[in-house]
Amino acid sequence: MYFDVVVAGGSVAGLLCAREIASNGFSVLVIEEDYEIGTPEHCGGLVSLAGLEELGVIPFRKTFEHMIESAKITAPDGNNFTINSKKQRVVEISRRELDKQIAFQAQRNGAVIKVKTSFQEITDTGIRTNEEKIDCKIFVDARGVSSLIHKDRTGILSSAQYEIYADWIKKGNVEVIFDQEKYPGFFAWIIPSNEGKGKVGVAGRGINVAETIDKILEEKGNYSTIRKIFAPIWIKGPIKKFVEGKTVIIGDAAGQAKPTTAGGIFTSGMGGVYAGQAISKFLKTNNSKDLEEYQKNWTDRFGSEFEKQSLARKILERIDNNTINKLFESITPEIINEISEKDDFDFHTGSIIKLLGIKNSIKTAQTLIGGELKKLLG
Ligand SMILES: Cc1cc2nc3c(=O)[nH]c(=O)nc-3n(C[C@H](O)[C@H](O)[C@H](O)COP(=O)(O)OP(=O)(O)OC[C@H]3O[C@@H](n4cnc5c(N)ncnc54)[C@H](O)[C@@H]3O)c2cc1C
Repeated sequence: MYFDVVVAGGSVAGLLCAREIASNGFSVLVIEEDYEIGTPEHCGGLVSLAGLEELGVIPFRKTFEHMIESAKITAPDGNNFTINSKKQRVVEISRRELDKQIAFQAQRNGAVIKVKTSFQEITDTGIRTNEEKIDCKIFVDARGVSSLIHKDRTGILSSAQYEIYADWIKKGNVEVIFDQEKYPGFFAWIIPSNEGKGKVGVAGRGINVAETIDKILEEKGNYSTIRKIFAPIWIKGPIKKFVEGKTVIIGDAAGQAKPTTAGGIFTSGMGGVYAGQAISKFLKTNNSKDLEEYQKNWTDRFGSEFEKQSLARKILERIDNNTINKLFESITPEIINEISEKDDFDFHTGSIIKLLGIKNSIKTAQTLIGGELKKLLG
């Protein structure tokens, strides 16, 4: 069997990449090891409408769940503030449906998708799956964080997310809770799917995520659990080389999820789009420079923002609960209003700088780490 390109991983990055390649008239096969595209759904489903538009996806009615209107951010001491996030145009979507919608786009353009088929190894002429050998010119690794686990464990955190029914979940209102003792280096989150239902999640360095999430839920009140998922997240930013010979690495497998939140629908998805375009060009010209355009295009778009997000992450990993509490105390209603006016969901370090009060208050900056902060401001 021969395809111009074989993509391992039938999720957002792999399917978008296949869509681009097929739309340029090349043969492409997507193999997905799970039994269904879009499952198991390991995602909060938060994405900006602008991001979806850029990915070339107008969500179907089934995909679109609801608009997010506000975000409540809570400090370890319980102090909190709420940002009006209407301008961000963030939606909560069903990942199960989004992935199927992109699979449909890819298939209509001519891609072939096979589930319950797993990539095993690269061969001299292509790849081998659990079923057969397939020849190809290019192999695309879109296997998500699982692909990074063997390369570098230091950028991986454990996460858990439960889908629950609870009357304390309010439609449209996302919650983010910081506590360096309970969720070191990350945070807990509540993402509503509707009134009374949503997803509660947590990630952190060295914690038992199941026990931690159970404690959050106990404190919150009555609830029923509908689904539990446990998945690693990658927070270390892009890997060094996206293209190695005839292997192209995309999406979470290339570290393209945001270092601050590990959100990757847009940034990993764009990795798939840029790679698909570059691979198509390469298949026309056979010039390997065309293949390398993929890394350049992704880095031009996201490189500097990801560097700043990595610095913001380093700061979060170093500060303690006391410092976070103090930072929250220094957040004024004016700062909250200014952030509410922003529409930077996908490029949000500007808002982080504002929230930290760094530009206005060098004192706050001194309690943190001078050198890294300067770079964050630069
Ligand atoms: C708990 C949690 C919540 C999240 N919430 C959000 C959010 O709200 N917003 C957001 O933007 N992002 C969120 N993310 C991140 C987002 O899910 C990822 O960035 C995104 O799914 C990355 O897409 P991908 O295609 O690169 O990889 P993945 O979605 O991880 O897909 C990889 C695919 O490869 C398949 N695969 C693996 N090995 C093989 C193999 N050997 N052969 C064939 N197939 C294989 C897998 O089954 C999977 O389908 C969240 C992540 C987690 C864990």
